[in-house]
Amino acid sequence: MTTQAWNYPEVGGDLVEIVVSEEQIRQRLSEMAARIDEDYAGEEVLLIGVLKGAAMVMSDLMRHLRSDVSMDWMAVSSYGKGTKSSGVVRILKDLDTDLTGRHVLIVEDIIDSGLTLSWLIENLRSRGPASLEIATLLRKPEAAKVEVDVRYLGFDIANEFVVGYGLDYAERYRQLPFVAVLAPHVYGG
Ligand code: 5GP
Ligand code: MG
Ligand code: MG
Repeated sequence: MTTQAWNYPEVGGDLVEIVVSEEQIRQRLSEMAARIDEDYAGEEVLLIGVLKGAAMVMSDLMRHLRSDVSMDWMAVSSYGKGTKSSGVVRILKDLDTDLTGRHVLIVEDIIDSGLTLSWLIENLRSRGPASLEIATLLRKPEAAKVEVDVRYLGFDIANEFVVGYGLDYAERYRQLPFVAVLAPHVYGG
């Protein structure tokens, strides 16, 4: 196993630049949470996170929420080890919760092609929720292959492969508290 030295917190080595800082993330998530609280006032909300990338967004977003929330997780596979979405989605772990009549908010790390999420929306909609909305920290508008209607958006970013704040490359870099562009030499690009 080879582990490359990657400089942290100084960006360099495996990382090209920080695109969203820790402070920007904190600020934006609290704004998104305030809007969610307003929109769901008096309702119970079921937050659904998509493993593993959304783990950090989920925990940081939900601690700002004052609404009555529950949390559940799904694991789907669309990328494997690579950096491109295949559009072929497999459920690796399904929900524990019955969605019938529930107000569901999908919590995502990033929308790239939108293929995974549009598949997920179809899948969850067929389970009879009272409502279904999407919150995502990041979106790459230039990479969209299908339009996905996002209710709560953190940041639009350029069409580059990013890591950190839950996002991995081959399971690494998830622990970075910011979002950074991965140097192409790491993935042979
Ligand atoms: P999509 O189907 O929208 O192309 O992407 C689905 C999933 O691929 C995202 O939820 C995320 O886990 C992963 N993904 C998309 N873009 C990136 C990226 O730039 N960096 C990383 N690390 N993962 C990404
Ligand atoms: Mg994701
Ligand atoms: Mg990944």
